Amino acid sequence: MIGFIGLGAMGRPMAANLAAVAPTAVWNRTATTAQQHAAEHGTHAVADLEDLGDCQVIITCLPTTDEVVQVAGRLAPVLAGGTVWIDHTSGDPAASRDLAADLVGRGIAYLDAPVSGGTDGAAAGTLTVMVGGDAEVVADVRWCLEAVGERIVHVGPLGTGHATKAVNNAMLATSLWAAAEGLAALTAAGVSASLALEVINGSSGRSFVTERLFPERVTTRTFPNTFALPLLAKDVRLAGQVLDDAQVSGEVLRLIQRLTAAAADELGPDADHTALVQVVERAADVELT
Ligand code: NDP
Repeated sequence: MIGFIGLGAMGRPMAANLAAVAPTAVWNRTATTAQQHAAEHGTHAVADLEDLGDCQVIITCLPTTDEVVQVAGRLAPVLAGGTVWIDHTSGDPAASRDLAADLVGRGIAYLDAPVSGGTDGAAAGTLTVMVGGDAEVVADVRWCLEAVGERIVHVGPLGTGHATKAVNNAMLATSLWAAAEGLAALTAAGVSASLALEVINGSSGRSFVTERLFPERVTTRTFPNTFALPLLAKDVRLAGQVLDDAQVSGEVLRLIQRLTAAAADELGPDADHTALVQVVERAADVELT
């Protein structure tokens, strides 16, 4: 039995895909979400975390490592030796290594296995999964990873999955800020964002941000919240820690970290990550359409 914890925007579709390959019990802080998931996807909703004690695989997809540590504090004492804990949270490398050390003392193996691909990729089961931890453990639970993703990359020892995810998302944030500033300037100069994107997406400045996020979320003015801005700000902050650990000065990413944190404070918890574009729009007094 798999025990899945955290039925948020990512966790709901991921747990549904896991339930298609193995019996899956689900726990969520807001219990009604778990009951609804069970009714829709054939999972088994449990009311108490401790009810997952018999699971051989525990999977978490929570906002940050802090919540994973909280949950582990309650659940780990009732798990059997030999259990594998797969953490799909975009988490903190150092704090996760500490958690893994605590778990291993109880005979529980931990893998950091954050994902990329958004809620669409989660629904389609096509996520990219970047895994840190022991190669034998990765091999044992590869079938679980393949239920949620199509590209599974074992990147190295514990913590390296989280580090890779943090750097990826710092690069995403950099692309968002760069595109917002460039397109704001072009709009003020008389070239609409849509027309500029037509050029850029056939040119060397193109990126996931210009090819997908701007046309789907920004120029449409929809900014649907599928990945909250505070979560992106968290990831960029974690990338700063990765730079610190590696003693890389990283002026660009540290500037992006400050800008993204300030935008998250300004726009609040319900803003999509793409809404940071609105900070640039307001300052330049333009709208990117
Ligand atoms: P959501 O905010 O949609 O969901 C968060 C989940 O965590 C909910 O199930 C929530 O429960 C639960 N939770 C929050 N606080 C606690 C707590 N203290 N104790 C127990 N459970 C808690 O987040 P996402 O699904 O968007 O993101 C999850 C992780 O995946 C994050 O690390 C994020 O950075 C990463 N990620 C997100 C992507 C996206 O596109 N959204 C893409 C790739 C990675 P409740 O229902 O009660 O609120």
